[in-house]
Amino acid sequence: MRDIIIKNGLVYDPINDLDGEKKEIHIKDGKIVDKVNGDAKIIDASGMIVLPGGVDIHSHISGAKVNSGRAFRPEDKLPNYNDKRTKLTRSGTGYSVPSTWSTGYRYAKLGYTTVIEPAMPLLEARHTHEEFNEMPIIDKAAFPLLGNNWFVMRFIKDKEYDKLAAYVAWVLKVTKGYAVKIVNPGGVENWCWGKNVDSLDDHVLHFDVTPREIIEGLAKANEKIGLPHTIHVHCNNLGHPGNVKHTLATMDTVEKINPQNHRDSIMHITHCQFNAYGGTNWGNFESAAPEVVEYLNSHKHITIDVGQVIFGEAATTTMTADGPWEFALHHLGGMSPWGAKPGVKWINGQVEGESGSGIVPYFFSPKVAVNAIQWAIGLELLLLMKNKYQIFFTTDHPNGGPFTAYPKAFRWLMDKKTRDDILLNQCSNKAETQTHLKDIDYEYSISDLCIVTRAGTAKCLGLKDRGHLGVGAIGDVSIFKLNPENMDGHAIEKAFTQAAYTIKDGQIVVKDGEIMASPMGTLLQTEGKVKEGDMEAMLSEVKAYWRDHYSINFNNYRVQDVYAPKVKMVNGT
Ligand SMILES: [Zn+2]
Repeated sequence: MRDIIIKNGLVYDPINDLDGEKKEIHIKDGKIVDKVNGDAKIIDASGMIVLPGGVDIHSHISGAKVNSGRAFRPEDKLPNYNDKRTKLTRSGTGYSVPSTWSTGYRYAKLGYTTVIEPAMPLLEARHTHEEFNEMPIIDKAAFPLLGNNWFVMRFIKDKEYDKLAAYVAWVLKVTKGYAVKIVNPGGVENWCWGKNVDSLDDHVLHFDVTPREIIEGLAKANEKIGLPHTIHVHCNNLGHPGNVKHTLATMDTVEKINPQNHRDSIMHITHCQFNAYGGTNWGNFESAAPEVVEYLNSHKHITIDVGQVIFGEAATTTMTADGPWEFALHHLGGMSPWGAKPGVKWINGQVEGESGSGIVPYFFSPKVAVNAIQWAIGLELLLLMKNKYQIFFTTDHPNGGPFTAYPKAFRWLMDKKTRDDILLNQCSNKAETQTHLKDIDYEYSISDLCIVTRAGTAKCLGLKDRGHLGVGAIGDVSIFKLNPENMDGHAIEKAFTQAAYTIKDGQIVVKDGEIMASPMGTLLQTEGKVKEGDMEAMLSEVKAYWRDHYSINFNNYRVQDVYAPKVKMVNGT
């Protein structure tokens, strides 16, 4: 592979304090170096901005429910989203749930080089990795679902915290996972009995534990085994009016736990827009974004991503391990005039002893008051938050909207005129009266955008080799045609829609929005450190219960190495 020198571009690298300075970036053997000696490919980035490759902290791209979503929605194959085969690329299709190969290409075209699949049922891990292997260019990681796992709840109930920590480490190893995911803790287990939980101290049926104990137990285990990322939490009561109280209480549960010394945070709350709701019912539904922001501004132990709503060209495919929420959404969508094709169909899934899931098509319309308010809440969170290293941009793809719409949202953040146009001329007037968006003048700088899409996400994930362009970082770079001195909303959206260049591990993979190479990405994996003896003690207990709980043999559970041909182990210190 030839060395690369990027010249004349304006470099945005907040971790290394570069805010649009002209600086050469040199890449050798896939890594950023001080200086390349001798022959190198020169990229002239005159009139362009140079950023680290994008790092998406939460996007449902792979695994059983994603694949079910594809099969479930033939109407999702919109003509504008058919990718034709070329000499280098395979064909694909899908608006909100793209084909596996298309997912890799489309992310690369937006300048993204690392994407996290945040919900992997343990039993479906092999499927998740099989799809990863068909998803070129981008690096990937997957978060195993642990918040409703029977062994987790048993160990917490018995106060066997060493065994719990060993179990988490073992799960990460056998599923080739990266971090602990918790979805509606306790609620998905209760859903097996047609119930849910609605407070942190509700009981999980037949396990005698509470959501609070599950969150605390897993947060302590996470720190005990020294993982690079915090626990990654989808709160209880997602999507319900007035849920902000519960969200803030959830944040409080882990305040006293000491994080490892390399980070301040102890818990990441995902797609927080769906958990930042005020009011008491859909009639007086309103934004509680300021309460969330106020809390975060004074509490370093929490990070969030947003789950921004996008007003779509078509219905998106919502999918989550929160089975009871999808049941509720199916009914909400079916009963009200919420758009063209509301939740008339619904998939519910259960993974034995581990997790559940649900899928419902959903159309976000600016004319629908609740949807317009949701749209505004996401932007409020992003715009009001002072410390951009505590908040990250996501749409919870495909739940709030597909990742291909990110450039639209970047435009809303960077250009008040565009977002006010939508707010005042397209949205239900409830978006004005029930949120504070109209009064927010702040516009994102390129550095702000760089933090919420790259620098901050990489840091939060404990990935020190990306999210910045310092010496030693991997050669993941995205370059966009944008003049910071003269940019309007249209120019911003256009620039971020088609990267001028995306470079992955020192190889040009995209030029002017076209795929130039399609290398295989790397799987990011981690393993916790466990005290001697704990692993054996935990395994002997797990094995004793295995035959009663699982339909497969213990020895067939582990994802074999052949499913992960290119791996990078990341440690947490
Ligand atoms: Zn999600």
